[in-house]
Amino acid sequence: MRTEIVDATRQKEAGTQLGAKIIREGGLVAFPTETVYGLGANGLNGEAVARIFEAKGRPSDNPLILHVSKKSEVRQLWDTLPESANILMDTFWPGPLTLIARKSSIVPDEVTAGLDTVAVRMPANDTARALIRKAGVPIAAPSANLSGKPSPTTAAHVFDDMNGRIPLILDGGACRYGVESTVLSLVGKPTILRPGAITLEMLSALLGEVRVADAVLSPLKENETAASPGMKYKHYAPDAEVIVVTGTPRKAAEKINELYVRAEAEGRHPEIVATEQTKGFYGGKNYVILGSREKPATLCSNLFSYLRSIDRYSDLVLAEGISTKDAGLAYMNRLLRSAGFNNIEV
Ligand code: AMP
Ligand code: MG
Repeated sequence: MRTEIVDATRQKEAGTQLGAKIIREGGLVAFPTETVYGLGANGLNGEAVARIFEAKGRPSDNPLILHVSKKSEVRQLWDTLPESANILMDTFWPGPLTLIARKSSIVPDEVTAGLDTVAVRMPANDTARALIRKAGVPIAAPSANLSGKPSPTTAAHVFDDMNGRIPLILDGGACRYGVESTVLSLVGKPTILRPGAITLEMLSALLGEVRVADAVLSPLKENETAASPGMKYKHYAPDAEVIVVTGTPRKAAEKINELYVRAEAEGRHPEIVATEQTKGFYGGKNYVILGSREKPATLCSNLFSYLRSIDRYSDLVLAEGISTKDAGLAYMNRLLRSAGFNNIEV
């Protein structure tokens, strides 16, 4: 299959028209959102949705998010509207917040992986919403990467993974947030299953108590079932070994320097993931700065692109852990998962 790339910033009308036609015919289209690129199919057509799992090599027990272009569309997808849903939608939609509630009967099992709940989001990206509106159906879409790889934040990342597997990529440039949506379950007490740009602090300010699922910052124990099936899979991992070092900036830097020297002596090619605040600790060594500790959202937006590039020149990543406040929770969640929870506390 030939994979066509259409520049959706210049040809939004033609691009989304073509994309909507492919979606209606049961095919797959990669499209930009403000979080990461999505790989979309008609969310009400089980056979079309099954093609997403095939193209990504995604385990079939990992459910997808349905994307809508209007708030009113959730009524047909959820069985009942949780009380807090209205205020959340009014405050954060369109935007990077996915809400989970009991599903209605029109949602196919392929979308929910057999669960009785369904995740829904209204994206803020114009191209994404135009595509959904023109398709006339909710679009089921996970991130447009091969399963296990970092989520794509540019059309080039999508092409690297999906070339030959899908007919169309809508190129909308680099994604604004660069990290997947916050996933909030409204079944029972509100619980963050996956942190994102809509933070725990923002949600608690609106709802009062909000829980964070254990699997956000620690690996699942054996025999434990994940609140969100996606959390049990290896994710975002480059071939390089990734080690996270958490502690005060100075102590973490000392430990990282020690590991770096040892790795080099063993003939390895380490690289340090530092922050603006700590770059002074690493003179003469290979390091990258993904942003400032004071702006964890910037660290988030640079992480996936960095993880995709690393295997070209390094076999060991030594990354500083940061505070889990605000967008730091999303950053640490993705970083720890890319490290397989290989974390040294100093
Ligand atoms: P992705 O589409 O790649 O961003 O992944 C979607 C994430 O949402 C995965 O971590 C899923 O496990 C999670 N998810 C989707 N639907 C549900 C659901 N009904 N219940 C719990 N988690 C869900
Ligand atoms: Mg994904």
